[in-house]
Amino acid sequence: MKFSEMPYTRPDYAAISEKLDKLTQQLRDAGSAEDQTAVYREYETLISHLSTQTTLAYVRHTVDTNDKFYEEENDYNDQQTPLMEEKVKTFQKALMDSPFRGELENLLGSLLFENMELEMKGFSPEIVPLMQEENKLASDYQKLYASAQIPFMGKTVTVAQLGPYKESTDRATRRAALEAEGSFFDQHREEFDQLFDKLVKNRTEQAKKLGFESFVELGAIRRQRNCYTPADVASFRQQVVRDLVPLTVKIKERRAKRLGISDFKFYDNGLNFKDGSATPQGTPEEILAAGQTMYEELSPETRDFIHLMFENDLFDVLAKEGKAPGGYCTGLPDYGCPFIFSNFNGTSGDVDVLTHEAGHAFADFIATETVKTHALRCPSMEGAETHSMSMEFLTEPWHHLFFGDMTEKYELSHAEDALLFIPYGCLVDHFQEEVYRHPEMTPEERNQTWLKLEKLYRPYIDFDNLPFYSRGAGWQRQLHIYLYPFYYIDYCMAQVMSLQYFALSLQDRDAAWKKYMAFLRLGGTKTFVDLAHSVDLRSPIDEGCVKDVCQAAFQWTEEHLVE
Ligand code: ZN
Repeated sequence: MKFSEMPYTRPDYAAISEKLDKLTQQLRDAGSAEDQTAVYREYETLISHLSTQTTLAYVRHTVDTNDKFYEEENDYNDQQTPLMEEKVKTFQKALMDSPFRGELENLLGSLLFENMELEMKGFSPEIVPLMQEENKLASDYQKLYASAQIPFMGKTVTVAQLGPYKESTDRATRRAALEAEGSFFDQHREEFDQLFDKLVKNRTEQAKKLGFESFVELGAIRRQRNCYTPADVASFRQQVVRDLVPLTVKIKERRAKRLGISDFKFYDNGLNFKDGSATPQGTPEEILAAGQTMYEELSPETRDFIHLMFENDLFDVLAKEGKAPGGYCTGLPDYGCPFIFSNFNGTSGDVDVLTHEAGHAFADFIATETVKTHALRCPSMEGAETHSMSMEFLTEPWHHLFFGDMTEKYELSHAEDALLFIPYGCLVDHFQEEVYRHPEMTPEERNQTWLKLEKLYRPYIDFDNLPFYSRGAGWQRQLHIYLYPFYYIDYCMAQVMSLQYFALSLQDRDAAWKKYMAFLRLGGTKTFVDLAHSVDLRSPIDEGCVKDVCQAAFQWTEEHLVE
């Protein structure tokens, strides 16, 4: 069905709530695992329908923010859906307490139960007021960030609009852009510091109330870490420092040489080549059409996928008046199909939408076929990002359709950026661990901690007295630190996975693709570590994995240098 023909009706929350109560009762009354499974499937249908309706409203609202109807519907759903949470939890609790638990685990998937158990550990009605306050603080941060009206080169711009200037081929412009940005954060120093201080204290209190030593443990549970501990993460970061950071220093030295700079500074970070980054060639329509060709040729499965996407108008990627900013990939479970939203702007980010976001969408498309239990279709974040980040590499033979004679430049910076990203992601994670292990730190102590860790993970950085950054507050730009604590290491682990697929594809493309499909077909039926092992890949946490994988990718960049 075409996206525009999918009917939307406002969910009847009172009826859904009643139905959830009824299903919970039926579950308790059921006399066998089979009967309980049938009730569970009914519950999934109910949730799937609700989620399809709220997603339709959300997508239509973001596609045209001037549409009053969908704006109101979206607001209404935002208010109502959290109220369903308690009923859902009660249903899940009844499922977990089932006398037929063992059989149910076989019928529905044991990871479903492990994940629910983990979720329960991270919640108690007692912390609801704190969670509400946490949400409020997080949205205050977003508002403050979005309120930025930064005077720059005779114009007034937002933080996001400064982005292209940070990549300017003119060094003075790059520095000026970072100075302008830094001044905004300096002007609001107190607010940014206080908001974070309150968030740290709030999250620590939640953790204590739930009986944890610190928010580090609770944060891991909230991020559904079902197969590794904070100690495993710390050991992964150590591997990165030991085995990858020295390689990134070499990459930066190469870049400096390429740029003709002898004193590499923080504001040179955004530029990869003297004449600028690779940009896609052609109109947005042509880029989109190239994406279609790419997936038609890549494999029979991607051909079916891309036909579904185009025939049903499941892409809305061209920029137009009234569209919300940013991009995302979401799912419409009732129709068994994904939806991709973006705003093409002529940068390589447009191609990322067709490789990265489409990787998520393709994974959703495959798991809908192979995994019956809805809640086990999508793996935890590291697994999901493995889908998308690996697709970025597996589509490599078609990148020339987008970049023409700039393709080699694109490939080089794509591989270099992948390697450079991992230590930065670890820095973000390590910083948060320090912060939540020592919630009493003052804002100044937090900045000093960040600076100390910068030296560990990005030793090539020289802030050159830039405002804001040189006092160690640069982390305040990283919205995950405020909004989604400990959500970042996931990307690092996924990036290591994607580099494994990259290395494999260089040796044997068919074998790499088969392994990728095998990973996708498992959906979220296994934990991240088990997913990796079951397709005969190494888990990033396995000792030596970071070293081998990153060394191979680095070697490839050495052999594919472009001026
Ligand atoms: Zn992603």
